Amino acid sequence: MISTERDHALLIACAVRILNASGAMGKSGHVSRRDPTDPGVMWINSQGASRSTIGPQDVVPIDLRTGARIGDGPAPPTELHIHRSIYLHRPEVAAVVHSHPPYVVALSVAGQTLRPVMIDGGFLPEEAPFFDSAAHVDTAERGELLATTLGDSTVVVMRGHGMALVAASVEEATCRLLAAEDNARIQYLASALAEPRALERDELERVAKHTGSGASRSKAWRYELETARRSGALDGLDLSALG
Ligand SMILES: [Zn+2]
Repeated sequence: MISTERDHALLIACAVRILNASGAMGKSGHVSRRDPTDPGVMWINSQGASRSTIGPQDVVPIDLRTGARIGDGPAPPTELHIHRSIYLHRPEVAAVVHSHPPYVVALSVAGQTLRPVMIDGGFLPEEAPFFDSAAHVDTAERGELLATTLGDSTVVVMRGHGMALVAASVEEATCRLLAAEDNARIQYLASALAEPRALERDELERVAKHTGSGASRSKAWRYELETARRSGALDGLDLSALG
């Protein structure tokens, strides 16, 4: 059972390591969550900590109202504006991931719209919103532009850069990021053969019912957690608080 601030930081550290081990994060990605007891605060991995060895001590709190780090310690990432702007625009969002998954980036620079072409990608919109700018999102103004482009979607693709994605929990955000990259890889491979056929609206609705269930989400997270643990990617973390 997750119960303390340290446990929330542990969950973020765990998510960062899982994404890093899968190759979908790289050295500069970040995972955040809205503080469940204070919706005006978010927690995010620091700028400098290695994504392969990050621990709970490397997760820092940010005041969403001002964008300032709360307290002393490691600095937040310069692209915290991605997260802050999304939380300000979307009060229902509990977790955000920003990452640089190679296949998602490949589609973005080829001018191909990310679409749900397989069932694991069923949470994607029929056409993923596209942020047509490859510069870092390191100002409040650029964060605002990105959040506006995201709108009420689950993801926004950032040309030549990566993507940002929202979810109801860190666990769901982690699994969604991995599924989005899997989906992009299949879309990329299929493009070499023919014009990929995306899932249709009624199929998306049916898939959402299945993959959106608590049992399905829990199974996906458990798979990613145990795979990472077995590989050694979570070594040094005390995972007992994660159940
Ligand atoms: Zn970035």
